[in-house]
Amino acid sequence: MTAVEHAAAMGAPTDLERCPIMPTYGPPAVQFVRGEGSWLWDRDERRYLDLLSGLAVTSLGHAHPEVARALCDQAHRLLHVSNLFGTEHNGPVASTLDRLLGGGGQVFFANSGAEANECALKLARKFGGGAAGRFNVVSAYGSFHGRTLATLHATGQPAKHEAFQPLPEGFRHVAWCDLDALEAALDETVAAVLLEPVQGEGGVMPATSEYFQGVRRLCDERGVLFMVDEVQTGLGRCGRWFAHQHFDVVPDVVTMAKALGNGVPIGACWARADVAAAFEPGDHATTYGGQPLATAAARAVLSVMEAEDVPGRAMHAGDRFRTGLLPVPGVTAVRGFGLLLAVELDLDARAVAARLLTDGVIVNAVTPTALRLAPSLLISDDEIDLAVAAVAAAIEAVALAAEEGNPS
Ligand code: PLP
Repeated sequence: MTAVEHAAAMGAPTDLERCPIMPTYGPPAVQFVRGEGSWLWDRDERRYLDLLSGLAVTSLGHAHPEVARALCDQAHRLLHVSNLFGTEHNGPVASTLDRLLGGGGQVFFANSGAEANECALKLARKFGGGAAGRFNVVSAYGSFHGRTLATLHATGQPAKHEAFQPLPEGFRHVAWCDLDALEAALDETVAAVLLEPVQGEGGVMPATSEYFQGVRRLCDERGVLFMVDEVQTGLGRCGRWFAHQHFDVVPDVVTMAKALGNGVPIGACWARADVAAAFEPGDHATTYGGQPLATAAARAVLSVMEAEDVPGRAMHAGDRFRTGLLPVPGVTAVRGFGLLLAVELDLDARAVAARLLTDGVIVNAVTPTALRLAPSLLISDDEIDLAVAAVAAAIEAVALAAEEGNPS
């Protein structure tokens, strides 16, 4: 794609010398202008089946009427007053999240997943006593926790660290799902362990009950906080309200974002009340966190999610995807929980994802050999069957092209 085409795809004037958007993302393949449920439309009114939900964000599908109504009403009433004053949705949203997490905690509202994790990291340091006490955070290789400097260092992908040295101190990484490695890393300087229940960006790699229960036990023995990053996995996506609930553990801190606003930026960090009590007024803040528009969206999202039983729907839909995809030639495995799935292929997943986009279906290649599916939790059975048929056709087309020595 040329610079001019890039600019045009971003809706920028094409007579500029360069695209006015920083080159942090590759050139976009398509520009979407509207959506409804599981479907998106581009500028030419071409329709696409969205199996990615903006990277696990629009869990109720696009333009959900109840979320849209809540946003419109709120926009006409009050947009912002700052955290110096109370607003009407914070309490109800925080109470619902606390209930879904089993109770006994408190919530800080942020604007994104990285910010929810920043709150968790600061809380761990404050609770641990800081530099003179416990301050290190242990996370796993392959993890993803955000792009701010601290969450980048928590992210266990050294290649992503290289260009941004020096990173903030206080982070250690251990092998994923290896209890012995974790045990060896837990000395008296460690304040917290931070893990995803399913490594999303790392390739949809689920933890196991044995591992998470072992982590809980080790954290209890060593006086370390167990913090779970549910930014991608939380709020019904994995077939439970929070994916760690598959493992029968109760973490001390849980972070979330993405699906909480169904596309409206909002994140949240929940912590056990005695842990949250380490924070005092002035310790942590953000101008927009918990502002009325975002929390109005979150309130509507949670209410629809509960009415629709989205964890139950995700389990049912995930099973239907799995049953449909496993017999497809070229599919070697399907892993994940609920509607966060990786479809492992015996051919180039990027070529299959590109072919699917051409065919009007959106997925991404989460590894060179695996497609990630994270569709709307309200996806219908007919849409799932359509999706499975499209994936099968795309695999066949890519395999045929490779056979003919003409890789797409
Ligand atoms: N944590 C996890 C598990 C994520 O998947 C992501 C984003 O993909 C983040 C944190 C960062 O969230 P955000 O991009 O909203 O800052």
